[in-house]
Amino acid sequence: MSNPGAPTVAFTTLGCRLNQAESDSMAEQMAGAGVGPPASGEGPDIVIVNTCTVTREATKASRSALRRAARSHPAAKVVAIGCYAVSDPDEVACIDGVDVVLGNDDKERVAEILRDRAQTSPLLQIAPPARRPPGQAVRVRANLKAQTGCDEWCSFCIIPKTRGPLRSLEADGLVDEARRKVEAGAQELVLTGVHLGKYGYDLGDDERSLVRLWRRLLEIDGVERLRLSSILSRHLTEEVVGFIASEPRMCRYLHVPLQSGSDAVLERMHRPYRIADYVASLERARDLLPDVALATDVIVGFPGETEDDFSSTMGIVRRLAFSKLHVFRYSARPETAAADMDDEISPEVKKERSRRLIALGNQIRSTWLAGHLGRRLDVLVEDEREVEGVWVCSGQTDDHVRVFFEGRALYGSMVSVEATEIRADGLRGHLPAKAARG
Ligand code: SF4
Repeated sequence: MSNPGAPTVAFTTLGCRLNQAESDSMAEQMAGAGVGPPASGEGPDIVIVNTCTVTREATKASRSALRRAARSHPAAKVVAIGCYAVSDPDEVACIDGVDVVLGNDDKERVAEILRDRAQTSPLLQIAPPARRPPGQAVRVRANLKAQTGCDEWCSFCIIPKTRGPLRSLEADGLVDEARRKVEAGAQELVLTGVHLGKYGYDLGDDERSLVRLWRRLLEIDGVERLRLSSILSRHLTEEVVGFIASEPRMCRYLHVPLQSGSDAVLERMHRPYRIADYVASLERARDLLPDVALATDVIVGFPGETEDDFSSTMGIVRRLAFSKLHVFRYSARPETAAADMDDEISPEVKKERSRRLIALGNQIRSTWLAGHLGRRLDVLVEDEREVEGVWVCSGQTDDHVRVFFEGRALYGSMVSVEATEIRADGLRGHLPAKAARG
């Protein structure tokens, strides 16, 4: 919360985990400049909407979020930032109620920029950013942005345009930032980036730079877990997987985007791998890490996707038994190569394929979750609330399952929970009798 009389800020974040990490870091910058969240029941003076434009739906959701921010907080200054703001700044500036439009690179100095902007300066008597925001609450699980930008130019993706080329953050700065987050209470660090597997390449480093960074982060006292947001299959090198296998604090969770199980579609998508390599990488990872959870993203209905292509995707999903499947229906993003491709797939076919794939993903996930029942799981407690008179805690396992259980005064602890039941959003469990307090 802010000092009495100081301006306040609220955030709305759309899109990927990198955007979430960047919103967290903007909130820290603003707090360091004395601009914190509003008191409960009060409106903010500034709303920062961190937008996304990865699909047509994401763009639409970003537009709605901006309009909603302006409607709900008519007295607040509305700041649009992020990929949608970069891809179409003129359109964003024309949305009723939007006061300031900023790009992705502005996120690193948002407090400074807003202080100097005529549109917001009357509100922002902000101090130069402090190294560590006083009283800033950091989550038990904190994102750490290691890298941004991408140079792969997948044909459906706007990110190389909106975020520019691959840029990694220097390891020294990341270690300092991680230390601050851990000192403020974070126990799990989630390393985020658009293309983490290439961390350090632009700094003249090589494919070992990611493991070097992990080693340094794990030297920080108090880091209980280190998680990767996602990584491309070709970066699951022996060294990367071997390191995860050798270090119990590295989460047994790998999100490895697949997008399609057909080489013909992968080629049209300009994806930097083919299916045999993808499968070999993941099966090798599973050999070394038998308990690893493998999650993925799939796009259905990419231009020209035949029923055979789609069957190949279903086959790969079955074979690799992903713990979590994120299914996206393809929609053309203007200014991408795929937007000009022929052989568009009809909305009905996309819908039908998406339904079949989601059903398969759910079935595999249920079987995978069932394998957790009766086991004691290490859960890092991230939330605790009273629900109809009962205190319920929840947190995540290292293989990325949310577990709910009765308990109190456990926020921030790593507890052992026996899993008893599958829920739509994870697992239910209970604590051994002596650990349940309150
Ligand atoms: S790898 Fe492809 S999909 Fe991922 S950010 Fe880069 S261009 Fe986009």
